[in-house]
Amino acid sequence: MEETITQTARRYHLPHRPARVGSTLVPPVSPEIRPVLPLVAAVSGGAVSFLAAVVSSLAIDPPKGSTTLGALALLGSAVIAEAFPVPIEGVSAGRTSLATVFIVAAAVIYDWRLAGVVGFLTMATVEIVRRRAAVRIAFNSGVYTLAAAAAGAAADAFSEGSLLRLCIETLVVSTAFYVVNIGLLGLLFARLRAQPVLPTLRGTLVSTTVPFAIMASLSVILVALWDRSPYLAVALLGPLVSIALYQRRQHDTLDRLRELDRLKDEFIAITSHELRTPLASVYGAAMTLQRHGLGDDQRESLLGVIYRESGRLARLVDQVLWASKLESGRVTAEIESCDPVALVDDVVAAEHAHLPPAVSLTVALDDATPRVAADGEKVKQVLVNLIDNAVKYSTDSSAIEVSLRTVDDRVRFSVRDDGLGIPLVEQQRIFDKFHRLDPNMRRGVGGTGLGLYICKQLVEQMNGHIWVASREGEGSTFAFELPAAEA
Ligand code: ADP
Repeated sequence: MEETITQTARRYHLPHRPARVGSTLVPPVSPEIRPVLPLVAAVSGGAVSFLAAVVSSLAIDPPKGSTTLGALALLGSAVIAEAFPVPIEGVSAGRTSLATVFIVAAAVIYDWRLAGVVGFLTMATVEIVRRRAAVRIAFNSGVYTLAAAAAGAAADAFSEGSLLRLCIETLVVSTAFYVVNIGLLGLLFARLRAQPVLPTLRGTLVSTTVPFAIMASLSVILVALWDRSPYLAVALLGPLVSIALYQRRQHDTLDRLRELDRLKDEFIAITSHELRTPLASVYGAAMTLQRHGLGDDQRESLLGVIYRESGRLARLVDQVLWASKLESGRVTAEIESCDPVALVDDVVAAEHAHLPPAVSLTVALDDATPRVAADGEKVKQVLVNLIDNAVKYSTDSSAIEVSLRTVDDRVRFSVRDDGLGIPLVEQQRIFDKFHRLDPNMRRGVGGTGLGLYICKQLVEQMNGHIWVASREGEGSTFAFELPAAEA
């Protein structure tokens, strides 16, 4: 049932991640509690309303052609609005579906039967296309059908009248929809969180007041226009859709910017730490070297520290420079025909020189591998990065294998390790700039989160693609494919 909560929460901007939102509906959901009452109420009520609406409108009083067309237009709009919810300024979590605007309009313009059918089909279509769990489809569709039928019943209680009366009627009908909808959701939340019903309902109402007010006023505008001419209402759709799309795009961009900002902060913290550690070692070693009376072994070992740590510093600064060059489009690949076997051999030989003793690095090469159309230096850079990562994120004793394969007209380079592995949800994001699985370096493994970003950019510049296959705790295989060179 967690999924249902998330969906309904998204629809009404209820905080569905309690830890993050920390407001009225805070306590975590207990998975053992089965919310039988709200589930039975929504599903059975929804099913009865839907059947009654279908039987009554098809068998007893079939709608006219223009009514069917109008209802179809409202249904189409409701499905689109449900599928593409929009963010509303000032509403803290998630996005709001504006489908209720069209369902309420169906209730006011037509009757409870068409409203019920539109409500059911809207939710069921979107939830089925999204491949939600059956129980969630049943609950959400039931809630929409019941709320729509209740809205239609409220509308049927009004008689024809002035425009003002029509607007008041739409407000009342919107409220009826809202009350049934939120009532069932509140009941569900109360059961799932084992909380008293009334305070939960109050919290639900408070956190959904703004979306409700916006939807109610949009319903009034739509119905008033439709009353003048349905064509006018249809004309409103164009600007509405473009505003909604613009809003979604803006919101997505803002989200991305916020995420980038957070990652940059993280990057500054990590890089400062990463710079300080080798700098401190180099400084300490140089100070000690100044002392007289050091033996040759001591000198040798201190010089070794300076060599290793200054190499680490150089790599770090290189990564930052590369990322900045790639970002500003100052890197171009010199594509030529290269021997992939020689490239792998070169890199592996160099890596062997500074491999930790417990880590083994082997190669599986096919000498018949065709030449690749690539920039040799950049291929090496990618391979070095992948092998360095395989070493860094390995367990105490790890086996790393670099292999080459021909796949159709492409050459596949793979680096396999049996190290920590990467959770599925992170496998795409690790190629993003600054993204690290362990930003706080709890495991003590440092890094800037730029290595894989640089690899991806370089491989793409050479008309290839890069990906990872991994299982947490079992290891990872990073692979990239490049086009074979023309013979
Ligand atoms: P860095 O290693 O500098 O943090 P990268 O961009 O090279 O940055 O890698 C991003 C993240 O992907 C790393 O922080 C690490 O969590 C994860 N990662 C990369 N390679 C491996 C690997 N072979 N095994 C497990 N995790 C890896």
